[in-house]
Amino acid sequence: MKRTDRQDPLVLPVDEIQEGASEYVLDVTAAGLDLQDAYYAFPGVIHVHLQLHRIMETFTLTGTVRTIARGECCRCLVPVEVPVRAELQVLFQLKNATPDELEAAAEDGGLVILRPGTRELNLAEHVHDGVLLELPVRVYCRKDCRGLCSHCGTDLNRDNCQCVGREQDPRWEALKNIKFR
Ligand SMILES: [Zn+2]
Ligand SMILES: [Zn+2]
Repeated sequence: MKRTDRQDPLVLPVDEIQEGASEYVLDVTAAGLDLQDAYYAFPGVIHVHLQLHRIMETFTLTGTVRTIARGECCRCLVPVEVPVRAELQVLFQLKNATPDELEAAAEDGGLVILRPGTRELNLAEHVHDGVLLELPVRVYCRKDCRGLCSHCGTDLNRDNCQCVGREQDPRWEALKNIKFR
């Protein structure tokens, strides 16, 4: 059998996976994982630390993936970097499955059933999906970010503008009367 250069260190030839426990500690790039998101960039490496436990044709994957996501403060739009940490837990089984079993596996993100004789386990897609699932819905530059003035766009964390008092939305008036302790 001709060996090709392994292109992706997270796509494992099944033949080379030992019985029992194996550990995979490596850093990959966002580009290498084809990791993209509409709201976040991934400026650093992706730290991958996985354990794979093989018993015959059953493979239990557990592990942790860590990286930094760079997004924008949802109020003032400055760049904000947040740590992202994903815990993976996936069970791979190589077996002839019934349609019912395949359907159940498709609904269960933690179970992957593959045909007997499958040559590779693709851990990369689970690392990829794990990171995307952990991205926060929104990020703030700081808890009390004052945001941008909705009238003139001034960054109210740095400056005051002259809009306050004019054209006040009555809904904000109610908020102003709330006392924060
Ligand atoms: Zn902000
Ligand atoms: Zn203003």
